[in-house]
Amino acid sequence: MTDLGRGRHTTTTSCLLKWAFGGYVVDTPGIRQFELTRVPSQELEAYFKEFVGLVPNCRFPSCSHTHEADCAILAAVENGDIDPARYESYCRMYQECVEKEKNRT
Ligand SMILES: [Zn+2]
Repeated sequence: MTDLGRGRHTTTTSCLLKWAFGGYVVDTPGIRQFELTRVPSQELEAYFKEFVGLVPNCRFPSCSHTHEADCAILAAVENGDIDPARYESYCRMYQECVEKEKNRT
């Protein structure tokens, strides 16, 4: 009975992750909340698939893509390569992640 319960939980989790990595970062408050409780702020970029290829071009390896100099993501937003709405969504979620991490320690 316990094993069955655990198996069901795992399926739900991986299903949500596949969603996120498929490029659908869900903006429904309930789901977003749930996702973000498990996403470290430094890994948030991985959920934005148009960011992933550009991240190595950032000057700082720990770039948060919010205010750093020579940030490849910020440059791409300026060039129009990244949708500004997606970028805004990233910034909002990044802030939420940082807030959660602060609350946890
Ligand atoms: Zn950056």
